[in-house]
Amino acid sequence: MDHLRRLGNSISIPIPPDENGFTGRECPNSDCEGYFKIEFGTGFKGKGLPCHCPYCGHTAGHDRFMTKAQVEYFKSVALRRVTDAFYEDLKKLEFDHRPSGGLGIGMSMKVKRDGPTPIHYYREKRLETEVVCSSCTLRYSVYGVFAFCPDCGQHNSLQILAKNLDMVEKMVDLAAGIERELRDKVTENALENCVSAFDGFGRELCRLYARKARSGTKPEEVSFQNLDVARTRLLALFGVDLSAKVSVDDWRGATKSFQKRHLVAHKLGVVDRSYLAKTGDSGAVLGRKILIGADEVKRLAKPIRTLASGMLANLQELGESE
Ligand SMILES: [Zn+2]
Ligand SMILES: [Zn+2]
Repeated sequence: MDHLRRLGNSISIPIPPDENGFTGRECPNSDCEGYFKIEFGTGFKGKGLPCHCPYCGHTAGHDRFMTKAQVEYFKSVALRRVTDAFYEDLKKLEFDHRPSGGLGIGMSMKVKRDGPTPIHYYREKRLETEVVCSSCTLRYSVYGVFAFCPDCGQHNSLQILAKNLDMVEKMVDLAAGIERELRDKVTENALENCVSAFDGFGRELCRLYARKARSGTKPEEVSFQNLDVARTRLLALFGVDLSAKVSVDDWRGATKSFQKRHLVAHKLGVVDRSYLAKTGDSGAVLGRKILIGADEVKRLAKPIRTLASGMLANLQELGESE
């Protein structure tokens, strides 16, 4: 039984990464079982490091994060190696004694099998957002957009917001050289994207810190498309002042730009009384199209970054998210 003996007590089977270098992972938390992928070799270096589920934050060793398909693959590879070794060992015992002597009796033993044990191959799934963690450089990919880094556990909300704001800036720059009508449209879209990026960020933070919200409030229903409303809601929810970290001028400027987005989204960009009352914009004329400058949209990124990092810092002071 040489072949079997050589296998030893344990079989080591490497996990094959997909064509992009990613290895699938599955959260062992039965309420989650979320699927994601990471590129081993990026991020933290060292052995025995824990893995954080990007969706629910559950933390355990990497051996607990194997996908069901990987477990089936490992089982089948292990079984194949054992059955192959057993087969080879039995093969060595084959004999064939030809009939001889007066009685003419011969004996033989031939070992046959239908074929090797099949391997359960698998393909990793396609995911939606690829992230390189800004803190530990791990490359990972997830469904949706927001996630905890599987290596260092840092949430990517600020990183995703920054990426979206960079994209807005590129959009505005690209539009600089095109004809006016199209340029105005792209600038409007860029403003809408800016506001949507902050809205997505704010909503995600409200979801993450929902357990820190005061009772009777509804953190999942807060919209961040109107800064004054969001500020009032955040004060009621968490006692956190959204405007605390920005200058009065930046707050006013950002509030006005957000109101312009409202006109673009709901009034085809035509100035109404509500806009004039809320912003006191002396440059706007009732019934005329609102002016949105490329520079204005680019400038908006700065206060948005400050508002976002301030909001995150204030919520973190309330305690760990759950
Ligand atoms: Zn999970
Ligand atoms: Zn990280």
